[in-house]
Amino acid sequence: MKKKQVLKVLSSVAIAASLFVPQVSHAEGAKPVTEENISVNGFIQYEELKKKLYQIEKSSNGQVKVETAGKTNQGRDIFTARVGHGDKVILIQSEIHGNEKTGTVALLNILQYLGSSNSEDAKKIREELTIVAVPMMNADGSELDRRGNVMSWREVQEQFPQLRNTLPSWNYYSGSLQGDNYSNNPGFDVNRDFNPNLNYVPKPEDFPGATNKAGWFITPEAQTVRDVYKSLQEEFGIVEVFLDLHHQNFYTIEGTDKEVTMSISADFVPDPKTPKGSKYSQYADNFRFDFSRQINVALYNALQEKGNSIFSNISLYDQNLDLPGTALGAFSLNGSGIAIFEVKGQTQNFGQKMKGQLVKTVETGIMGVIKGVADGSVYKLNPEDYDNIPNRVHK
Ligand SMILES: [Zn+2]
Repeated sequence: MKKKQVLKVLSSVAIAASLFVPQVSHAEGAKPVTEENISVNGFIQYEELKKKLYQIEKSSNGQVKVETAGKTNQGRDIFTARVGHGDKVILIQSEIHGNEKTGTVALLNILQYLGSSNSEDAKKIREELTIVAVPMMNADGSELDRRGNVMSWREVQEQFPQLRNTLPSWNYYSGSLQGDNYSNNPGFDVNRDFNPNLNYVPKPEDFPGATNKAGWFITPEAQTVRDVYKSLQEEFGIVEVFLDLHHQNFYTIEGTDKEVTMSISADFVPDPKTPKGSKYSQYADNFRFDFSRQINVALYNALQEKGNSIFSNISLYDQNLDLPGTALGAFSLNGSGIAIFEVKGQTQNFGQKMKGQLVKTVETGIMGVIKGVADGSVYKLNPEDYDNIPNRVHK
């Protein structure tokens, strides 16, 4: 649809452009489109999300509570949906990148199940856990089916007058990316706008920043999720688990010819207790890398239990990253066990192909983590098993 159809022609331009924005590492997916008419209509749009969330809330008879936690820059609601009344909280976020949409569908399926099932499993989960979902974090980007949010640097400067003489942050998109033209409608990679210091206020000397430096909470979307996180910290002491749902490019499992269905990771900042992580030493007592590894092992095992199939083609994501501006990096330094979910293919090069299977992959992985935390089994897993999960290699 729209720009996607002309992307074929523009793909070489897009690749060339991407080479000149090396700071946008991990903005994957600027690969040539091989087919036309890559539709995303099967995914959930914002208005439909709103309807479905309230339907789920209604049919749950009080088990699911939907709230507006904040607004996007264009004024759309950023919803949270909460289910369960246990004393451990799991926060799950989807569509921080608006063109990465499987997680939103998976979250709705899980909310529907946990909100209305009377099975022993569902009851146990509701007793042991509180699950808070942010099913469409970057709703403005989602509406445009693009990675960035919709916000100009001028708007940032209006809200933070101390930045009036400052260059835009390094994660500002104002050119071409992944087949999207941001020049008339710029925005930010919201997933570089987080800071491990949850009370951080933007300072001019911290701009334009860099990939291995913390973000600034300049976008209302990041501010909203930060506020949700802080309110959960107040309520529960700690946000036990944080899961972030994404899409990536096409890879194979190292040593095989199997295409990776999903990559996962526990590793977004170096351990503050190691020399490489010493710049994060103030967070050393919070950081639970072994727990993050256990979470990833639980989600990996849940998918391996599906037997030899596309569901078991799971790899690690890139390791040894230093991305303190990501939600995962910032929240792991605040003590949450973390996992990223990166299913294959982005909408500009894969559309909604394999949607059912990819949603099922995400759903199975999330439920593996939820069950493991609810019954305590995740805490008994060997964190070293994480290192046996295969790597991904470029196709
Ligand atoms: Zn992403």
